[in-house]
Amino acid sequence: TSFGFKNVPEEEKSRLVGNVFSSVSSNYDLMNDFMSVGLHRLWKDRLVSKLNPFPGMKHLDVAGGTGDVAFRVLETINSIKRRALQDPLEDRLIEETQIYVCDINPNMLNVGKKRAIQRGLGEDKSLVWVEGDAEALTFGDNSMDGYTIAFGIRNVTHIEKVLAEAYRVLKRGGRFLCLELSQVDIPVFKELYDYYSFSVIPALGELVAGDRDSYQYLVESIRRFPPQEKFASMIADAGFEKVEFENMVGGVVAIHSGLKL
Ligand code: SAM
Repeated sequence: TSFGFKNVPEEEKSRLVGNVFSSVSSNYDLMNDFMSVGLHRLWKDRLVSKLNPFPGMKHLDVAGGTGDVAFRVLETINSIKRRALQDPLEDRLIEETQIYVCDINPNMLNVGKKRAIQRGLGEDKSLVWVEGDAEALTFGDNSMDGYTIAFGIRNVTHIEKVLAEAYRVLKRGGRFLCLELSQVDIPVFKELYDYYSFSVIPALGELVAGDRDSYQYLVESIRRFPPQEKFASMIADAGFEKVEFENMVGGVVAIHSGLKL
């Protein structure tokens, strides 16, 4: 049995999505590497390079899970700081960086906190872990320089609400960036990709995580997510400007971006 989410009431859908991530949290990072053959690391690097992090920034990573994106943002800022320290005229260092990792699932955040300690980032006060819903953020209006959401928006109940909240919390000039599994539209490659998603991924889920259903659901949710052009127009409808997207691996993933001007 797979998750037939189409006929499920909305509250029930949220609960089921919660279950999926509770069930996968301990295997989550391992499965990411398996399913994307390690590529998710490069995609996240690309996302963060588009963000252009800077010391003193207030950044919000929504659906931040086990911290992958937040760690990259912080490590980029730390390396800028290390370089700047060698410059005696540099005074940007006084500013306090804050990177908020917001996720609806406390299990994912707990795995993230442990990983932060393992990476030597546990003492870093710049990382703030917040349990919360992307559709109803607890952060103030115009409070963030940047907003990222990686492999998160596909699972929410109302995409429009998430985009409206992203727009609300960003400062003027702030950038919205979304990394998401998207639609492949290249003949032959599409057929291969469909086979990989519908046959190989659920089997891998069974084998590695002992959980076929959760991975079956993840695959189905990719196919239901709006195609790149449509999603871009939803971002523009939320008020963002200079909306664009970049496909990677023929659209297996795409990075959408927009500015609040
Ligand atoms: N961004 C991380 C990454 O790329 O490794 C985690 C991605 S994981 C596929 C999706 C995450 O979205 C899960 O941690 C899940 O708990 C979270 N999530 C699902 N619905 C959410 C919501 N409404 N608000 C906040 N987080 C949500």
